[in-house]
Amino acid sequence: MNDKHNLPRLSLGCLGGTVSMQAGLPGQGVTPQLEGNALLAGVPQLGTLARITTTSLGLLPSASLTFQIMLDVLNWARGEVERGAQAVVLTQGTDTLEESAYFLDLLWPFDAPLVMTGAMRAASQPGHDGPANLLAAVQVALTAESHGRGVLVVLNDQVHLASHVRKTASLAMAAFESPGWGPEGGVVEGRAMYRRPPLLRKVLPPPRRCGHRVALLEACLDADGALLQAIPTLGYQGLVVSGFGAGHVSAAWAQAMASIALDIPVIVATRTGSGPTASASYGFAGAEIDLQRKGMHMAGSLCPRKCRLLLWLLIGLGNEEALPSWLAAR
Ligand code: ASP
Repeated sequence: MNDKHNLPRLSLGCLGGTVSMQAGLPGQGVTPQLEGNALLAGVPQLGTLARITTTSLGLLPSASLTFQIMLDVLNWARGEVERGAQAVVLTQGTDTLEESAYFLDLLWPFDAPLVMTGAMRAASQPGHDGPANLLAAVQVALTAESHGRGVLVVLNDQVHLASHVRKTASLAMAAFESPGWGPEGGVVEGRAMYRRPPLLRKVLPPPRRCGHRVALLEACLDADGALLQAIPTLGYQGLVVSGFGAGHVSAAWAQAMASIALDIPVIVATRTGSGPTASASYGFAGAEIDLQRKGMHMAGSLCPRKCRLLLWLLIGLGNEEALPSWLAAR
């Protein structure tokens, strides 16, 4: 029998999402309702693995999370580790998990794991995956080899790096992938098994200011330039364009973006969902060689949404000059 006092200390923070959702009345849609203690009570074996303290950080659908909320979550999680927690597990909705995980990963200064999880089926549905995902997340958080890997996303018994993970299915149980990379590991018989050693991590300090905004626009066939041309007048301080193929836009967009790039950083990523942008292959107007000559940055393998978070944090530090080295490291 485990002596309770010898068990590792783990902190569980809960933000809402489907993992915490149930229907108020039969036939009604599900909404976030379950606080941390209720989630914990659904997985009694957790008490044999760790001394877990729970904190309710919010009961939100993840579409309504904000940068400020995630900075507050970061402060809370840092405080937990500084006060002796060996690992932190965070539950939230899956809709924005690929973004919030990367946001926190860029700022997570510890070797101690911060593991994020959620669920695809609400707590009131048969086959609810929340308890299994929560158990797996705790098991990953308690595995020694999880140290030094930053923020990890655990769902469906897979472990993904925050910098690679994407939600690629709207309702399927297997909704998360790391396209072009694959999961970092899996949960096998109660512990994380990794396919690779940890990557070298680069971490940012928290931003000094938060009021700025970075726009994200997607290129599409025969798109007009009205929104693009409005960007400078709307006060955005950075722009990410989710481009075609290997990071391309129309000749007309390239021209409009060139004048925007005179004033604010512009990143061009790929909207394809997998693979890097090119840097030296295509020579037409609106392709990567032209865009770089016009002062824009190619995203490499970083997806458009994650580019926006990186740029927002760098601008918040007044350190936009570091953008090329961050994109090169992805
Ligand atoms: N469908 C979402 C989820 O999986 C809702 C949300 O992101 O809050 O949790």
